[in-house]
Amino acid sequence: MPHWFDLGDVAVVPLIEDDRLLIEPGEFFPGLEPDLADWYTREPWFDRAAGKLVFAIQSFLVCSADEVLVVDACVGAGKDRRRAEFDQLPDRWMRQFLATGLRPAEVDAVVFTHLHADHVGAATVRREPVFPHAPHLVVEEEFRYWSSEAGAAAMRRTGDYLADSVLPIEQAGQLSFVAPDAAVGKHAELVPAAGHTPGNVCVRVRGSAGTLLLAGDTMHHGVQIRHPELSTRYCVDPGKAAEVRSRILEGERGSVLLPTHFPAPSAGRVRGGFEFAADLIQTGQFRWREWRRAS
Ligand SMILES: [Zn+2]
Repeated sequence: MPHWFDLGDVAVVPLIEDDRLLIEPGEFFPGLEPDLADWYTREPWFDRAAGKLVFAIQSFLVCSADEVLVVDACVGAGKDRRRAEFDQLPDRWMRQFLATGLRPAEVDAVVFTHLHADHVGAATVRREPVFPHAPHLVVEEEFRYWSSEAGAAAMRRTGDYLADSVLPIEQAGQLSFVAPDAAVGKHAELVPAAGHTPGNVCVRVRGSAGTLLLAGDTMHHGVQIRHPELSTRYCVDPGKAAEVRSRILEGERGSVLLPTHFPAPSAGRVRGGFEFAADLIQTGQFRWREWRRAS
């Protein structure tokens, strides 16, 4: 059953490409030995039978009556990727986008929190931008890093997704550099969060009835709420990533966090463990035109 988040005059709609990606704890967090007595080793965070951590791959629509943002773009369909879970995926993402009743031409802007393979792919198909009228916003330092030697070396484990999923957007004149604290449209603003990658950001979304922080990849799994010092193998600067995570967990106490890779329903508040935000969740298919008429 699909779900979305109701912030009053703004809706945040997850587009979920994979709702249960299982990864070995030590592959993702070097040296981690999960504590089977702790909450993060229960469902939906941990698959006991497989002994693996559970992740979601998703991105988000931020919809108001007159504005539609896409925040991140998952792995995307039909891409050649070295990682088997990402290689030549079917088009689940676009089917979910179209189920909202939106058309690609109605997207006003795309925000890339960072340029990892699981955050950019669905914004292009066969090296063409999917959203013809949308500027695609990214922090310049992020783009420069992935275009550098260091970035190219880091990309070797995945395949050169910059070439097939980001450069076509730049070549179409649709890539725009923004400050890491820029306002995006009427209801969203970027929040600087460099560490996981050099130009990484979160996105704060404000509606008439609630606010949430799309926390991107500042945290990937519940285990990092218990152990904020734990960064992933894929963090460009693990120390800085840990600092940013601690800052968010401290500074955003009581606010709703929606980290990209937390398993559904993904959004919640840090209270002892992580309490999913039942007050904001609506179940059922979000349909933009109907929602707009009703609100
Ligand atoms: Zn990610």
